[in-house]
Amino acid sequence: MAQEHLTRAAGGTAPPTSHATLRRANLSLVLRQLRDHVSRSRADIADVTGLHRATVSNLVAELLDRRLVREVGTEHVGAVGRPRRAVALHGAHVGALGLEINVGHISVHGCDLSGRVVVERRVGFDTVGSGPDRSLRRLGLVAGEAIEAMQRAGAVPAGIGVAVPALVDVARGVVALAPNLEWYDLPLADRLAGALGPLRLPVTVDNDANLAALAEYTSGVAAGTPHMVYLTGEVGVGGGIVVEGRLLRGADGFSGEVGHLPVDPAGARCGCGRYGCWETKVGLEALMRTALPERAHERAGPPVPDPEERAAEIAAGLAAGDPRMLEAVARVGRWLGLGGSIVANLFNPRVIVVGGYFATLAEWLLPHAQTELERLVVARHAAPCRFAASDLGFGAASRGAASMVINQLIDDPTTLMDPLLRPATP
Ligand SMILES: [Zn+2]
Repeated sequence: MAQEHLTRAAGGTAPPTSHATLRRANLSLVLRQLRDHVSRSRADIADVTGLHRATVSNLVAELLDRRLVREVGTEHVGAVGRPRRAVALHGAHVGALGLEINVGHISVHGCDLSGRVVVERRVGFDTVGSGPDRSLRRLGLVAGEAIEAMQRAGAVPAGIGVAVPALVDVARGVVALAPNLEWYDLPLADRLAGALGPLRLPVTVDNDANLAALAEYTSGVAAGTPHMVYLTGEVGVGGGIVVEGRLLRGADGFSGEVGHLPVDPAGARCGCGRYGCWETKVGLEALMRTALPERAHERAGPPVPDPEERAAEIAAGLAAGDPRMLEAVARVGRWLGLGGSIVANLFNPRVIVVGGYFATLAEWLLPHAQTELERLVVARHAAPCRFAASDLGFGAASRGAASMVINQLIDDPTTLMDPLLRPATP
């Protein structure tokens, strides 16, 4: 079910045939209007969608009944316009749970259909050292706790989205290859759904950069920019590419693997087994190696501390003017600009939004990156492209995972007919 929505979103909507299909499509049309605007009157919805006013009233009545929209009083159109009763997206009883599992952490973002954040949390976790079985058990525990918290807040999750730094077979929910987690052919959706037992929540898995790009496109610093690229800044570097307002997925859903652009054939070995990939130049490990060469070996505690903590440590050193760190960040910034120029030459984005540790260190990294980008992009004057730091922090991917669940619900609100999702008390 969930996969169909993504396919539909990527490939266009087939003409509705049956009455039920038509109604589902129309309910979705109305909900999309309300997602994209704070509130709308029935008459406005009819004007914009081209649906008959009586049909819109009927659809809104059903959505009110399901508590997916609510009345928000009257709007006055013009000085002498007739007052119109407006409705807005509601769905406070319907939750969407987004998770991210990455090299040093698990992130959680639970919200309701209208975007109200119910749970937001981040847990440091050594995913590589734990192996896939223990990691999935931990992910199941964290998800279970989040679901309980959401239930207590009255927003029962209708689905779970999981972001993974990996090539993901979205249709099957299988992590095909996650070099930095050392996971191969892992049926994550089935395993997580199984770990959650009788809840039977649908689980959708997708690449972390794609989901972070979705969050950026929806609510980030470059929200609504139709041509943009998002870069994750973790141990690995992934790209989510938005072209004409849509995520570019490629033939098999594997596009955007910019971290493995071979930028230096004589370079260091990458987690993917190749040499000189872009992420060996700009990933957090690369920066740590040059910025903190001694301390990285002396460090006590868990072998893979949370990247956010490590980025904060480097930021403190940079703010204090540590010359070694400043040189290391300048070098990484130049490599960031070089790779960014390849991305800009290929996709002509207006903005390259950088997340993760790139955002934490943006004030030191981005000036170098921008200079190098402008030096190397072929069409630099005709096609300006700028780097911008994400303000969604390290939580962008889990936020995007929750957005994906909401998009699926908005694409097909009739999936909420499941009695489990109806409120216990009216
Ligand atoms: Zn690689």
